[in-house]
Amino acid sequence: MPADSQAFDDLTKELKPHRVILVAVSKTKPIEDIEALYALGQRDFGENYVQELVKKKTALPGDIRWHFIGHLQSNKVKLIIPFVQLIQGIDSLKLLQEVNKQAGKNGRTVNCLLQVHIAQEETKFGLDENELALVINEYGAGRLPNVKLSGLMGMASLTENMEQVRKEFRYLKQLFDRHSKEIQSFDILSMGMSADFKIAIEEGSNLVRIGSRLFGERSR
Ligand SMILES: *Cc1c(COP(=O)(O)O)cnc(C)c1O
Repeated sequence: MPADSQAFDDLTKELKPHRVILVAVSKTKPIEDIEALYALGQRDFGENYVQELVKKKTALPGDIRWHFIGHLQSNKVKLIIPFVQLIQGIDSLKLLQEVNKQAGKNGRTVNCLLQVHIAQEETKFGLDENELALVINEYGAGRLPNVKLSGLMGMASLTENMEQVRKEFRYLKQLFDRHSKEIQSFDILSMGMSADFKIAIEEGSNLVRIGSRLFGERSR
């Protein structure tokens, strides 16, 4: 199914009163689907795979803001550093140090979100509360001058139990509020996907990452 203008219209209307940023997650979807949403005014797009992102970036207009939302391997950081708007999935200090190094080489300051593990599934990536504090401490000490920590990102459990999902988002919001006090640059709380974005917004999200609701189901 191509990008659906009705779904986009409905979603932007729903998000508008909350002043929430919409990142359209276009992973696995063809260039034409992105062009269709671009024509409707969407500029923030999210991708999970480095090669796919680089290919799409080359083929599409230069004013698209590309968000990297997947699990990023250190050896691929340099491929996206020259152009990426926001790296949302920083899940280790080592990865953040590599981003800092490559950003320096490119003469850029790169915006990053720290990903926190809030779900029950072990398979999901992310820092725990203690690792998060450690990374923030390192940043606060000024040892990562070429990155800007803009906030936190998290993915809730894949479950029908919406009270569980709400609890996880609430926990992430608490961590966000706690660290916002020390880190001036914190202003983005990225939580919520197609199935749970309404709860995420109720719990304080100001950036949602939405794929299937806009582009239709994915095969992977
Ligand atoms: C794929 C993906 C999304 C979008 O998921 P939908 O359920 O299709 O809206 C959001 N965030 C991350 C990190 C993803 O990998």
